[in-house]
Amino acid sequence: MQELSGGCMCGAVRYKVVGAPVVSRICWCRTCQKISGNGTANALFPTASITISGTLSSFTSPADSGNEISRYFCPTCGCHILGGSAANPHFRVLRIGTLDDPSAIQPQVNIWASSAPNWACLDPALKLEAKQPSPPQAPSNG
Ligand SMILES: [Zn+2]
Ligand SMILES: [Zn+2]
Repeated sequence: MQELSGGCMCGAVRYKVVGAPVVSRICWCRTCQKISGNGTANALFPTASITISGTLSSFTSPADSGNEISRYFCPTCGCHILGGSAANPHFRVLRIGTLDDPSAIQPQVNIWASSAPNWACLDPALKLEAKQPSPPQAPSNG
């Protein structure tokens, strides 16, 4: 089974993730633009498949979808590693750019395209969602 690793800028937080993502997406919601200056590239994994070493801080706020979303980041360097919804604890999104090999996961869809700035380069080869697609079902073993 595929195992990927990654971490924050300063090295205080490292992680491993096993298996393939459920879906991988570039999110253009306004919150993602504020944390990254751009869209964020995210891979959705079952929470149980991610192992973190080090300590993450978090900040919880309502997302454009209306869900309360927590974002987890290194308290030392501020690098965002994970996001997740309290309503859907079985899944976490991993920020693809924090992987040691960020080419290991290819984004499949742009979401919240309706919030993207007019200079955003949206790959026409990817699927496009104006807003938030339906959440995935919780894994049956979870
Ligand atoms: Zn760090
Ligand atoms: Zn977003």
